[in-house]
Amino acid sequence: MPEPFKRPKRKNPIVRTRLPTLPPGLRSRVALGLTAAAARGRFELQVCRDCGAVQYPPREVCRVCLSHRLIWRPQDGRGELLSETVLRVAQELFFRERLPWRVGMVRLDAGVNVVAYVHENVSDAPCRVRIEAALDRAGQAALIALADDRRRSVLSDDPKLREMTCDPLGRKILVTDGKSVLGQAAVRALAAAGADLIWIGEAEPWKKIPGFAALRELSAAKIVPLDLTDGRSVQVLAGEIGAKVDIVVNTAEYHRTFGIAARRGVETAQLEMEVNYFGLLRLAQAFAPALKARAADGPTNAIAWVNVLSIFALANYPAHGTYSASKAAAFSLSQTLRAELRPAGVRVINLFPGPVDDEWDQLELPPKLSPAAVAAALVAALKDSVEDVYPGDVAQDWLARHLDNAKALERELSEGNR
Ligand SMILES: [Zn+2]
Repeated sequence: MPEPFKRPKRKNPIVRTRLPTLPPGLRSRVALGLTAAAARGRFELQVCRDCGAVQYPPREVCRVCLSHRLIWRPQDGRGELLSETVLRVAQELFFRERLPWRVGMVRLDAGVNVVAYVHENVSDAPCRVRIEAALDRAGQAALIALADDRRRSVLSDDPKLREMTCDPLGRKILVTDGKSVLGQAAVRALAAAGADLIWIGEAEPWKKIPGFAALRELSAAKIVPLDLTDGRSVQVLAGEIGAKVDIVVNTAEYHRTFGIAARRGVETAQLEMEVNYFGLLRLAQAFAPALKARAADGPTNAIAWVNVLSIFALANYPAHGTYSASKAAAFSLSQTLRAELRPAGVRVINLFPGPVDDEWDQLELPPKLSPAAVAAALVAALKDSVEDVYPGDVAQDWLARHLDNAKALERELSEGNR
């Protein structure tokens, strides 16, 4: 049985911080298909369109009929752990620092063999297991064999595999805006998930928002001044807590409902950009260097950055036209942030919720996501080792339409067909 989580010791400030090591991260273009699926929490393998063969490892052509018509298809991952071993010697620095590793050979019911990390909870081979693909610290897909009777991923129960996740348990977290309904829900969900300390950003302290004062009663919570439209405010907070934050959760956003013709002037659109795009940029400039520097601090390292974006970042929804544009800009910037944080092993997670049941989506037709559902998806994303999360049916539907035919989605949205 795995040991219960123990709070890590404080870091000795005199001991030099180690530089981060990462598992080998290079993959061929075709093998990145596995990573693309794992980034969304799915385990997919190549399937041949001509003969139906499933194959692993990924290749350019079908191993049976040499057809190049291969598509990635979700797999249930069920199979049998045939044999296992414990690695006690490794060439790679990353693995050498973490020996021993339990690895095994799994025969999938789909007909292929894979080599996978074996979770502590799995009994000795031979036995039934379920393979999941999770992102490792280099941001690449790694295959993990979990006990078949577990319905949910419990990666963090295994101390070795916990490092792949960004489990909020025992972590110090900054939530940039605690005043929105979504920010409040995020704080409560993170507190319930066992966060050690949550700094809650508060802009405009004179505004009385229902529910916000009650956050002060959470034992893990501490309210701090933070206004993402003010570079000085961001820098002051980064100077105070930047060296302690393990996870940044950016919930701050400005959202108004209009396209181009409905208003004169650009002031509102500028405010959307100020918070949603420049706010993220200010936050990243102030906090990302400290996160990178603390990426190898053992169990008390900095691990993740979460952006709450919107499904409107993928395709412009004209009724929320300027807001969509600001979220698309933030999405693009988040990819730079991801590229800059990945070498340190710090994961950037983007959430793309559909319309949320809040003030500015009032006129949207249901289904709408409750803020609590988005917050639950946020915590699950941290625990499950993924990068891109599309909470709720609307976001899942938009994503499927976007991947199938982005142009058709643009036309449907322009006709108000959500
Ligand atoms: Zn084939």
